Amino acid sequence: MFDSDLDRDGKSGRRAFLLTSASAVAGAFLWSLRKPGVLAAAPAAHGVPGEVAIVEFSDDGKRLKKERVPKVVKSEAEWQQQLSPAAFAITRHADTEISFSGQYWNLHDKGLYRCICCDNALFKSDTKFESGTGWPSFWAPIARENVREERDLSLGVPRTAVNCTLCDAHLGHVFEDGPPPTGLRYCMNSASLKFVKMG
Ligand SMILES: [Zn+2]
Repeated sequence: MFDSDLDRDGKSGRRAFLLTSASAVAGAFLWSLRKPGVLAAAPAAHGVPGEVAIVEFSDDGKRLKKERVPKVVKSEAEWQQQLSPAAFAITRHADTEISFSGQYWNLHDKGLYRCICCDNALFKSDTKFESGTGWPSFWAPIARENVREERDLSLGVPRTAVNCTLCDAHLGHVFEDGPPPTGLRYCMNSASLKFVKMG
Protein backbone atom coordinates (compact mmCIF):
# COMPACT_ATOMS: atom_id res chain seq x y z
CA MET A 1 0.00 0.00 0.00
CA PHE A 2 2.71 2.36 1.06
CA ASP A 3 4.88 1.35 -1.89
CA SER A 4 2.06 1.76 -4.41
CA ASP A 5 1.22 5.18 -2.96
CA LEU A 6 4.83 6.17 -3.37
CA ASP A 7 4.76 4.88 -6.91
CA ARG A 8 1.66 6.88 -7.75
CA ASP A 9 3.12 10.00 -6.21
CA GLY A 10 6.30 9.43 -8.15
CA LYS A 11 4.38 9.26 -11.42
CA SER A 12 2.22 12.28 -10.76
CA GLY A 13 5.35 14.08 -9.65
CA ARG A 14 6.97 13.39 -13.02
CA ARG A 15 3.85 14.49 -14.87
CA ALA A 16 3.75 17.72 -12.88
CA PHE A 17 7.42 18.26 -13.67
CA LEU A 18 6.80 17.82 -17.41
CA LEU A 19 3.83 20.22 -17.32
CA THR A 20 5.90 22.74 -15.39
CA SER A 21 8.66 22.48 -17.97
CA ALA A 22 6.22 23.08 -20.82
CA SER A 23 4.81 26.15 -19.04
CA ALA A 24 8.32 27.40 -18.42
CA VAL A 25 9.11 27.22 -22.13
CA ALA A 26 5.90 29.07 -23.03
CA GLY A 27 6.64 31.57 -20.28
CA ALA A 28 10.17 32.14 -21.52
CA PHE A 29 8.80 32.83 -24.99
CA LEU A 30 6.34 35.39 -23.66
CA TRP A 31 9.01 36.81 -21.41
CA SER A 32 11.22 37.51 -24.41
CA LEU A 33 8.51 39.84 -25.74
CA ARG A 34 8.33 41.76 -22.51
CA LYS A 35 10.32 44.12 -20.35
CA PRO A 36 11.63 42.62 -17.09
CA GLY A 37 9.36 43.09 -14.12
CA VAL A 38 6.07 43.24 -16.03
CA LEU A 39 3.82 40.22 -16.36
CA ALA A 40 0.79 39.79 -18.59
CA ALA A 41 -2.67 40.39 -17.20
CA ALA A 42 -4.82 37.28 -16.88
CA PRO A 43 -5.56 36.27 -20.47
CA ALA A 44 -8.73 34.35 -19.58
CA ALA A 45 -11.31 36.10 -21.79
CA HIS A 46 -8.89 37.45 -24.37
CA GLY A 47 -9.24 36.61 -28.03
CA VAL A 48 -12.41 34.65 -27.41
CA PRO A 49 -15.03 35.27 -30.12
CA GLY A 50 -18.49 36.46 -29.11
CA GLU A 51 -20.77 39.46 -29.13
CA VAL A 52 -20.34 42.58 -27.02
CA ALA A 53 -22.42 45.70 -26.50
CA ILE A 54 -20.59 48.96 -27.20
CA VAL A 55 -21.63 52.56 -27.77
CA GLU A 56 -20.61 53.98 -31.12
CA PHE A 57 -19.38 57.55 -31.50
CA SER A 58 -18.79 59.73 -34.55
CA ASP A 59 -15.35 61.30 -35.03
CA ASP A 60 -16.74 64.62 -33.78
CA GLY A 61 -17.64 62.98 -30.48
CA LYS A 62 -21.39 62.50 -30.94
CA ARG A 63 -22.88 59.49 -29.20
CA LEU A 64 -24.58 57.47 -31.93
CA LYS A 65 -26.10 54.24 -30.62
CA LYS A 66 -25.50 51.26 -28.41
CA GLU A 67 -25.10 48.13 -30.50
CA ARG A 68 -24.30 44.47 -30.10
CA VAL A 69 -21.42 43.68 -32.44
CA PRO A 70 -19.08 40.72 -32.96
CA LYS A 71 -15.79 41.05 -31.07
CA VAL A 72 -12.67 41.81 -33.10
CA VAL A 73 -10.52 38.68 -32.82
CA LYS A 74 -7.21 38.32 -34.68
CA SER A 75 -4.19 36.03 -34.46
CA GLU A 76 -0.90 37.08 -32.88
CA ALA A 77 0.63 37.30 -36.36
CA GLU A 78 -2.18 39.53 -37.64
CA TRP A 79 -1.88 41.91 -34.68
CA GLN A 80 1.89 41.99 -35.05
CA GLN A 81 1.56 42.93 -38.70
CA GLN A 82 -1.01 45.67 -38.01
CA LEU A 83 0.64 47.33 -35.01
CA SER A 84 3.95 49.02 -34.20
CA PRO A 85 6.21 46.90 -31.96
CA ALA A 86 5.35 49.12 -28.96
CA ALA A 87 1.61 49.03 -29.60
CA PHE A 88 1.76 45.24 -30.06
CA ALA A 89 3.67 44.66 -26.81
CA ILE A 90 1.35 46.97 -24.85
CA THR A 91 -2.08 46.10 -26.26
CA ARG A 92 -1.62 42.39 -26.85
CA HIS A 93 0.86 41.57 -24.02
CA ALA A 94 -0.02 44.11 -21.32
CA ASP A 95 3.31 45.92 -21.45
CA THR A 96 3.59 49.52 -20.20
CA GLU A 97 5.25 52.39 -22.05
CA ILE A 98 7.89 54.47 -20.27
CA SER A 99 6.26 57.52 -18.68
CA PHE A 100 6.68 60.86 -20.51
CA SER A 101 7.64 58.89 -23.65
CA GLY A 102 4.26 58.56 -25.37
CA GLN A 103 2.71 60.97 -27.83
CA TYR A 104 -0.44 61.87 -25.85
CA TRP A 105 0.49 62.53 -22.19
CA ASN A 106 0.94 66.25 -22.94
CA LEU A 107 -1.68 66.64 -25.68
CA HIS A 108 -4.41 69.17 -24.92
CA ASP A 109 -6.26 69.26 -28.25
CA LYS A 110 -10.00 68.69 -28.35
CA GLY A 111 -10.86 65.28 -29.74
CA LEU A 112 -11.58 61.63 -29.35
CA TYR A 113 -9.26 58.77 -28.38
CA ARG A 114 -9.99 55.49 -30.18
CA CYS A 115 -8.44 52.03 -29.72
CA ILE A 116 -5.28 51.66 -31.85
CA CYS A 117 -6.31 48.05 -32.59
CA CYS A 118 -10.01 48.27 -33.49
CA ASP A 119 -11.13 51.97 -33.55
CA ASN A 120 -13.54 51.52 -30.63
CA ALA A 121 -14.14 54.96 -29.04
CA LEU A 122 -12.52 54.99 -25.59
CA PHE A 123 -11.98 58.49 -24.17
CA LYS A 124 -12.76 62.14 -24.90
CA SER A 125 -10.48 65.13 -24.38
CA ASP A 126 -13.00 66.80 -22.02
CA THR A 127 -12.29 64.14 -19.35
CA LYS A 128 -8.51 64.32 -19.77
CA PHE A 129 -6.56 65.89 -16.93
CA GLU A 130 -2.98 66.64 -15.95
CA SER A 131 -1.99 63.79 -13.64
CA GLY A 132 1.76 64.49 -13.60
CA THR A 133 2.44 60.80 -14.28
CA GLY A 134 3.60 61.12 -17.88
CA TRP A 135 0.76 58.92 -19.11
CA PRO A 136 -2.46 60.24 -20.67
CA SER A 137 -5.01 60.31 -17.84
CA PHE A 138 -8.80 60.56 -17.89
CA TRP A 139 -11.42 60.62 -15.12
CA ALA A 140 -13.95 58.58 -17.13
CA PRO A 141 -14.21 56.50 -20.28
CA ILE A 142 -16.38 57.81 -23.12
CA ALA A 143 -18.94 55.10 -22.30
CA ARG A 144 -18.69 52.54 -19.56
CA GLU A 145 -19.67 49.79 -22.03
CA ASN A 146 -16.60 50.47 -24.20
CA VAL A 147 -13.98 49.44 -21.65
CA ARG A 148 -13.73 46.33 -19.50
CA GLU A 149 -11.99 46.22 -16.16
CA GLU A 150 -10.04 43.21 -14.98
CA ARG A 151 -8.17 42.36 -11.78
CA ASP A 152 -4.40 42.35 -12.39
CA LEU A 153 -2.01 40.78 -9.85
CA SER A 154 1.02 40.80 -12.14
CA LEU A 155 3.12 43.12 -9.96
CA GLY A 156 2.15 41.35 -6.74
CA VAL A 157 -0.17 44.20 -5.72
CA PRO A 158 -3.81 44.19 -6.81
CA ARG A 159 -4.47 46.62 -9.64
CA THR A 160 -7.35 47.03 -12.07
CA ALA A 161 -6.39 46.66 -15.71
CA VAL A 162 -8.50 48.40 -18.34
CA ASN A 163 -9.14 46.65 -21.65
CA CYS A 164 -11.00 47.50 -24.85
CA THR A 165 -14.37 45.73 -24.80
CA LEU A 166 -14.36 45.22 -28.55
CA CYS A 167 -10.91 43.64 -29.10
CA ASP A 168 -9.52 42.92 -25.58
CA ALA A 169 -6.57 45.30 -26.10
CA HIS A 170 -4.78 46.17 -22.87
CA LEU A 171 -5.06 49.96 -22.47
CA GLY A 172 -3.68 50.70 -19.00
CA HIS A 173 -4.97 50.70 -15.40
CA VAL A 174 -7.56 52.58 -13.38
CA PHE A 175 -6.81 53.95 -9.89
CA GLU A 176 -9.01 55.57 -7.26
CA ASP A 177 -6.95 58.74 -6.82
CA GLY A 178 -8.42 60.81 -9.66
CA PRO A 179 -10.14 64.20 -9.61
CA PRO A 180 -13.87 64.94 -9.29
CA PRO A 181 -16.47 64.14 -10.37
CA THR A 182 -15.55 60.43 -10.38
CA GLY A 183 -12.39 60.28 -8.27
CA LEU A 184 -10.99 57.85 -10.83
CA ARG A 185 -7.75 58.02 -12.77
CA TYR A 186 -7.69 56.03 -16.00
CA CYS A 187 -3.93 55.85 -16.57
CA MET A 188 -3.51 54.88 -20.21
CA ASN A 189 -0.68 54.08 -22.59
CA SER A 190 -0.44 56.51 -25.52
CA ALA A 191 0.50 53.57 -27.74
CA SER A 192 -2.89 51.91 -27.10
CA LEU A 193 -4.73 54.99 -28.36
CA LYS A 194 -5.34 56.81 -31.62
CA PHE A 195 -6.28 60.49 -31.33
CA VAL A 196 -8.92 61.91 -33.66
CA LYS A 197 -8.99 65.72 -33.57
CA MET A 198 -12.37 67.44 -33.42
CA GLY A 199 -13.32 70.43 -35.56
ZN1 LIG B 1 -9.96 47.69 -29.35
